[in-house]
Amino acid sequence: MNPIAMSLLLVVAWGLFAWQLKRRYALMTLGPGENRLDQIGERLRRTWQYAFAQKRMRRYWWAGVAHQFIFLGFIVLLLRSLLLFGRGFDADFTFWGLLARGTALGDGYSLLKDIFVILVILSAALFLYYRLIKRERRMTLSTEGVIILLIIESMMWADILHDGAEQRLHAHRAVATAAVSHTGFDGFEPAGSIMAMALSGVGSESALSVLSAVGFWTHVTLVLLFLNLLPISKHFHIVTAIPNVFTQSLRPRGRLPNVEDIEGKIEREETLGLARITQLSWKSVLDLYTCTECGRCTDHCPANQTGKLLSPKQLTLDLRDYVYQNEGRLIAAKRAARGANGDGANGNGDAWKPEDLLPDIIKPEVIWACTTCGACETECPVFITYVDKIVDMRRHLVMEKSEFPTELQNAFRGMESNSNPWNFPASDRAAWAADLNVPRIAEKPDAAVLFWVGCSASFDDRARRIARATAQLLQAAGVDFAILAEEEQCTGDPARRAGNEFLFQMLAQANVETLNRYNPRTIVTTCPHCFNTLLNEYPDFGGKFNVVHHSVYLADLVKAGKLRPANRIDAKVAYHDSCYMGRYNEVYEPPRETLRAIPGLTVLEPAQTRDRGLCCGAGGAQMFKEEEHPREGAQGERVNIRRAEQLLDTKPDLVASSCPFCQRMLIDGLASKQREDVKQFDIAELLWQSVETSA
Ligand code: SF4
Ligand code: SF4
Ligand code: SF4
Repeated sequence: MNPIAMSLLLVVAWGLFAWQLKRRYALMTLGPGENRLDQIGERLRRTWQYAFAQKRMRRYWWAGVAHQFIFLGFIVLLLRSLLLFGRGFDADFTFWGLLARGTALGDGYSLLKDIFVILVILSAALFLYYRLIKRERRMTLSTEGVIILLIIESMMWADILHDGAEQRLHAHRAVATAAVSHTGFDGFEPAGSIMAMALSGVGSESALSVLSAVGFWTHVTLVLLFLNLLPISKHFHIVTAIPNVFTQSLRPRGRLPNVEDIEGKIEREETLGLARITQLSWKSVLDLYTCTECGRCTDHCPANQTGKLLSPKQLTLDLRDYVYQNEGRLIAAKRAARGANGDGANGNGDAWKPEDLLPDIIKPEVIWACTTCGACETECPVFITYVDKIVDMRRHLVMEKSEFPTELQNAFRGMESNSNPWNFPASDRAAWAADLNVPRIAEKPDAAVLFWVGCSASFDDRARRIARATAQLLQAAGVDFAILAEEEQCTGDPARRAGNEFLFQMLAQANVETLNRYNPRTIVTTCPHCFNTLLNEYPDFGGKFNVVHHSVYLADLVKAGKLRPANRIDAKVAYHDSCYMGRYNEVYEPPRETLRAIPGLTVLEPAQTRDRGLCCGAGGAQMFKEEEHPREGAQGERVNIRRAEQLLDTKPDLVASSCPFCQRMLIDGLASKQREDVKQFDIAELLWQSVETSA
């Protein structure tokens, strides 16, 4: 077509793109390294599942299907763009005959290309509809997003115009030379054929040549423009999504990154927690680049749904905007730090330091609103993580600045002095079992099961009934078990998630030491937070235990016939999933199986259930603090009240859960709705009611 113009276009566009990529890469090298190249097989499996097959995208069905078409369309059309680049040099370029029309491969590709051109046009139109007409709450109406969609539409139409005009030109020339050519509808080029028909009124060859050239140059120019818009727009995810999915964390979901050598860090006066953007690892920066702004995370965030300022999407965008706005200074500061003086100065003693993330870039009430429920991370199609960043920011506020909600001070003090966040006397830990003849492990070190009771079920009057019901069920089933009693301490979950890593590690080390001394074969616990910490986090402290949640253990006892629920409970029960059993540890069926085993009981599912279940509002140490104030203009609501409403929508007689924290929150939520008539029970309590009379 025009080799000089094409060469210029390619050199300028690809040169600019390479320069932009270099700068983006430089930003990824500001912070500490991280190894994300272990377990390659597992990484490839997940990349296939989530990046190519886009499993998570279809959690929003229509948007997911449309996105899949665009993704596959881009892969198919990449070849088309290369073909057109080649035709800039040689009008008959067909990859050395490989894609020549008339061959099986050439015709097949031509058909595939046209199918995807049409699918991409329809899918981009659907996204325009979501943005401009339906205006989904989760999406921000950005000019950039609309422009990119219009560019995609234009690229496709330009391609069709080029093909249609070319078909007409061939037909013209065929008539002129009496040669056989594609003069009718070409089944291998359906979109082009329809365009050719639309152009049937254009009689002159020169006009058709102009139309063909307009289609051609518009397509190739837009492709190269699009390429260069990627690094400065949310569409950079086209480049980064596959690597981001490939390098996702393979840690158990409930395990927060550990702070190694915390005492050494304090001695060396190193920064504790995430204070500045330059502390983000390359993977965290890649997370920021990869956000597609789809808003799914915020859509499911309980804090955001109930009017708090926290929006995980906005948190990601605020960090990303800061990185982009300060790109030059961040790179220069890094270069200076590597310079001769190595002190981060530019040689004139006026070093620039990035602002503190809190409160300069992120408002503290944003991070304190998080319940660590994990809903955002379950929804994010490109595996961006937030809880690790939020907790790391809390660590900085708590351990270095001593800035945290005052109510947490009581919980910290309680965990420090009495090993429980309510600060009850540690000596009362086993009081719940006073009349139950439950042995202590010190007296029975070879017990088959260690019942880890947890602080809530040990001290809270209402939750103690869960501990009692569980112990009675274990006794009824003939399980050989014992408790730690006063030797048990809080697992430290509330301390860790509130950012007090120092306190968490103290408790974790003490508990691991105790547990390793008794070396229990199985630990059964009623608390999902204890379960998660014992199972997923204690291995970092040398404690590897077989931990089973009571929902699973009791379901197994029922299945094995060791517990026979015979007493009818004629009621409809709405079941609430705990985040730390469900989303974090994927335990959904066992509690339902236990409930279904009770004669007369019907299990109801709220509209938001299982991995989409709304948090009760207690996680992430929220249990020990007041909820954050609503954002400006929003009508605030407590998370537990919202969840109680959802459960009440099923018109239940009872509400059930398998977490003492959830229980407390739901009881309060039901009371706020003046629905104390709907009683709340743990699954162990209901099972015991059914077993007790028949035992
Ligand atoms: S973990 Fe839950 S509360 Fe925290 S940001 Fe994610 S969705 Fe929101
Ligand atoms: S963080 Fe993930 S879920 Fe949230 S807007 Fe970005 S891509 Fe979407
Ligand atoms: S208390 Fe229950 S619902 Fe709330 S975060 Fe913990 S597990 Fe989730």
